[in-house]
Amino acid sequence: TVPVLAIDGPSGSGKGTVAKRVAEALGWHLLDSGALYRAVGLLALDRGIPLDDADALAALALRLPISFQPAGEGVSVHLEGRPRDADLRTEDTGAAASAVAAVPAVRDALLARQRDFRQAPGLVADGRDMGTVVFPDAPYKVYLTASAEERAQRRHKQLMEKGVATTLAALLEEIQARDARDMGRSVAPLKAADDALRIDSTGMSIGQVVKAVLDHVVL
Ligand code: C5P
Repeated sequence: TVPVLAIDGPSGSGKGTVAKRVAEALGWHLLDSGALYRAVGLLALDRGIPLDDADALAALALRLPISFQPAGEGVSVHLEGRPRDADLRTEDTGAAASAVAAVPAVRDALLARQRDFRQAPGLVADGRDMGTVVFPDAPYKVYLTASAEERAQRRHKQLMEKGVATTLAALLEEIQARDARDMGRSVAPLKAADDALRIDSTGMSIGQVVKAVLDHVVL
């Protein structure tokens, strides 16, 4: 069977960057599962679908018109054939994603779609429930964390570079609220798989985390 490296953890843990670098180093495919939840959230907002209409959301998720197109060094996410990268990354879309992610029928509808990414020579899967629900048989699992303070600082730095005005205190509060929501929800709560390697990236550089993850994958 095709090997999977599941990387789970809270937002701001650096998962996205680490998953991308590790996938490049291994030459494996990459699944950004958050993009699927964000796509369902964004299209629901576009179409005026209420974020608690489980049937309509599940129907949308089942036939999600998403594609990942190579663009320069990276990937552009297209919805209905159009690039929507900037819209997918807004706070509003993130909030909609986390609302639709709490609907069990949406999670079920996205399961097969996520498992389709498992293709030779291997897959790096980035998300919240990759090692627990989507790929429980993955031979490699990492749970990446960092202190809430460090995650708030990283986000602050990113936003400052983009010229977005915000305070560290506000970001810390936001991160703590999002943690509580993601870990406290009844469906697929964020938690480490029992067999995951836990890495606390507080005080580590991205390069150090990438190395620790690659050391874990024995081919
Ligand atoms: O990782 P990202 O911030 O793009 O994820 C957006 C939202 O989608 C998260 O806040 C989370 O609620 C949800 N999500 C999830 N399961 C995943 C990936 C994302 O519930 N595997």
